[in-house]
Amino acid sequence: MSSLHNFVEKIRSPDGEDGCWIWQGAVGSDGYGRVRRRGTTHSAHRFAYELFKGPIPEDLCVMHRCDVPLCVNPTHLVLGTKADNSQDMLRKGRDGVTVPKLRFDQVLEVRRMLAGGATKAEVCEKFDICRSTVQDIETGSTWGKDHPLQGQLFSTIPGRDS
Ligand SMILES: [Zn+2]
Repeated sequence: MSSLHNFVEKIRSPDGEDGCWIWQGAVGSDGYGRVRRRGTTHSAHRFAYELFKGPIPEDLCVMHRCDVPLCVNPTHLVLGTKADNSQDMLRKGRDGVTVPKLRFDQVLEVRRMLAGGATKAEVCEKFDICRSTVQDIETGSTWGKDHPLQGQLFSTIPGRDS
Protein backbone atom coordinates (compact mmCIF):
# COMPACT_ATOMS: atom_id res chain seq x y z
CA MET A 1 0.00 0.00 0.00
CA SER A 2 1.31 3.41 -0.91
CA SER A 3 1.95 6.30 1.49
CA LEU A 4 -0.66 8.24 -0.44
CA HIS A 5 -3.29 5.57 0.04
CA ASN A 6 -2.62 5.30 3.79
CA PHE A 7 -2.63 9.05 4.13
CA VAL A 8 -5.84 9.69 2.21
CA GLU A 9 -7.67 7.08 4.29
CA LYS A 10 -7.13 9.27 7.36
CA ILE A 11 -8.66 12.42 5.86
CA ARG A 12 -12.22 13.68 6.12
CA SER A 13 -13.28 16.49 3.74
CA PRO A 14 -16.81 17.55 4.70
CA ASP A 15 -16.67 20.63 2.46
CA GLY A 16 -15.44 18.79 -0.62
CA GLU A 17 -12.13 18.89 -2.40
CA ASP A 18 -11.68 22.65 -2.02
CA GLY A 19 -12.57 22.74 1.67
CA CYS A 20 -10.38 21.77 4.59
CA TRP A 21 -9.18 18.17 4.63
CA ILE A 22 -9.35 17.31 8.29
CA TRP A 23 -6.77 14.88 9.58
CA GLN A 24 -8.39 11.99 11.49
CA GLY A 25 -5.24 10.22 12.64
CA ALA A 26 -3.01 10.86 15.65
CA VAL A 27 -2.62 14.43 16.90
CA GLY A 28 0.47 15.75 18.68
CA SER A 29 0.54 18.03 21.72
CA ASP A 30 1.13 20.96 19.36
CA GLY A 31 -2.31 20.44 17.81
CA TYR A 32 -0.99 19.22 14.48
CA GLY A 33 -1.63 15.78 13.01
CA ARG A 34 1.04 13.14 13.28
CA VAL A 35 2.08 10.65 10.60
CA ARG A 36 4.45 7.73 11.09
CA ARG A 37 6.50 6.74 8.10
CA ARG A 38 9.51 4.42 8.08
CA GLY A 39 9.75 4.63 11.87
CA THR A 40 9.83 8.43 11.98
CA THR A 41 7.05 10.77 13.04
CA HIS A 42 6.14 13.71 10.83
CA SER A 43 3.58 16.50 11.08
CA ALA A 44 0.60 15.54 8.93
CA HIS A 45 0.45 18.92 7.17
CA ARG A 46 4.16 18.84 6.38
CA PHE A 47 3.79 15.28 5.14
CA ALA A 48 0.86 16.40 2.94
CA TYR A 49 2.91 19.26 1.55
CA GLU A 50 5.78 16.96 0.60
CA LEU A 51 3.44 14.32 -0.77
CA PHE A 52 1.48 16.68 -3.03
CA LYS A 53 3.75 19.65 -3.65
CA GLY A 54 7.34 18.59 -3.08
CA PRO A 55 10.23 18.92 -0.64
CA ILE A 56 10.18 21.59 2.07
CA PRO A 57 13.32 23.74 2.14
CA GLU A 58 15.14 23.24 5.43
CA ASP A 59 14.63 26.71 6.88
CA LEU A 60 10.97 27.08 5.99
CA CYS A 61 7.77 26.20 7.82
CA VAL A 62 4.56 24.94 6.25
CA MET A 63 1.75 27.33 7.13
CA HIS A 64 -2.02 27.04 6.90
CA ARG A 65 -3.78 29.68 4.82
CA CYS A 66 -7.04 28.42 6.36
CA ASP A 67 -5.73 28.56 9.94
CA VAL A 68 -6.98 25.05 10.66
CA PRO A 69 -4.08 23.14 12.26
CA LEU A 70 -5.50 19.71 11.36
CA CYS A 71 -6.13 20.64 7.72
CA VAL A 72 -3.93 18.76 5.24
CA ASN A 73 -5.37 20.12 1.99
CA PRO A 74 -2.21 20.93 0.00
CA THR A 75 -3.90 23.92 -1.64
CA HIS A 76 -4.32 25.44 1.85
CA LEU A 77 -0.65 24.96 2.71
CA VAL A 78 2.02 27.52 1.92
CA LEU A 79 5.69 27.84 2.74
CA GLY A 80 6.85 30.64 4.99
CA THR A 81 9.63 31.56 7.34
CA LYS A 82 9.18 31.07 11.05
CA ALA A 83 8.82 34.86 11.34
CA ASP A 84 5.96 34.76 8.80
CA ASN A 85 4.39 32.01 10.83
CA SER A 86 4.37 33.91 14.13
CA GLN A 87 3.27 37.11 12.37
CA ASP A 88 0.52 35.18 10.73
CA MET A 89 -0.68 33.64 13.98
CA LEU A 90 -0.44 36.96 15.79
CA ARG A 91 -2.39 38.68 13.05
CA LYS A 92 -5.08 36.04 13.01
CA GLY A 93 -5.04 35.72 16.78
CA ARG A 94 -6.07 32.10 16.83
CA ASP A 95 -7.90 31.67 20.13
CA GLY A 96 -6.43 35.02 21.08
CA VAL A 97 -3.02 33.52 21.78
CA THR A 98 0.10 32.57 19.89
CA VAL A 99 0.32 28.79 19.93
CA PRO A 100 3.82 27.59 20.73
CA LYS A 101 5.24 24.79 18.62
CA LEU A 102 6.68 23.10 21.67
CA ARG A 103 5.68 22.57 25.27
CA PHE A 104 7.89 23.96 28.00
CA ASP A 105 9.37 20.56 28.85
CA GLN A 106 10.16 20.02 25.15
CA VAL A 107 12.03 23.32 25.02
CA LEU A 108 14.05 22.12 28.00
CA GLU A 109 14.74 18.88 26.14
CA VAL A 110 15.89 20.85 23.08
CA ARG A 111 18.29 22.80 25.27
CA ARG A 112 19.45 19.59 26.93
CA MET A 113 20.15 17.99 23.54
CA LEU A 114 22.04 21.04 22.27
CA ALA A 115 24.04 21.23 25.52
CA GLY A 116 24.82 17.52 25.11
CA GLY A 117 26.32 18.15 21.68
CA ALA A 118 23.36 17.25 19.43
CA THR A 119 23.32 19.00 16.07
CA LYS A 120 20.47 21.29 15.08
CA ALA A 121 19.53 18.81 12.36
CA GLU A 122 19.09 16.05 14.95
CA VAL A 123 16.94 18.30 17.12
CA CYS A 124 14.84 19.38 14.09
CA GLU A 125 14.23 15.77 13.19
CA LYS A 126 13.34 14.70 16.72
CA PHE A 127 10.82 17.49 17.37
CA ASP A 128 9.79 18.04 13.76
CA ILE A 129 10.52 21.74 13.91
CA CYS A 130 12.37 24.19 11.67
CA ARG A 131 16.05 24.84 12.07
CA SER A 132 15.19 28.49 12.73
CA THR A 133 13.02 27.41 15.68
CA VAL A 134 15.94 25.51 17.19
CA GLN A 135 18.15 28.52 16.57
CA ASP A 136 15.63 30.74 18.36
CA ILE A 137 15.47 28.43 21.35
CA GLU A 138 19.26 28.32 21.50
CA THR A 139 19.58 32.09 21.42
CA GLY A 140 16.56 32.67 23.64
CA SER A 141 14.62 34.74 21.11
CA THR A 142 11.80 32.18 21.37
CA TRP A 143 10.53 31.60 24.88
CA GLY A 144 12.35 34.83 25.61
CA LYS A 145 11.54 37.91 27.61
CA ASP A 146 7.79 37.94 27.05
CA HIS A 147 7.19 34.35 28.01
CA PRO A 148 5.64 33.68 31.43
CA LEU A 149 7.99 30.74 32.03
CA GLN A 150 11.05 32.68 30.93
CA GLY A 151 12.49 33.00 34.44
CA GLN A 152 12.14 29.30 35.06
CA LEU A 153 13.60 28.45 31.65
CA PHE A 154 16.71 30.53 32.03
CA SER A 155 17.33 29.59 35.65
CA THR A 156 17.30 25.89 34.71
CA ILE A 157 19.44 25.75 31.59
CA PRO A 158 20.34 22.07 31.51
CA GLY A 159 23.85 20.83 31.11
CA ARG A 160 25.50 23.98 32.40
CA ASP A 161 26.02 22.83 35.97
CA SER A 162 26.77 19.14 35.44
ZN1 LIG B 1 -7.76 24.08 5.19
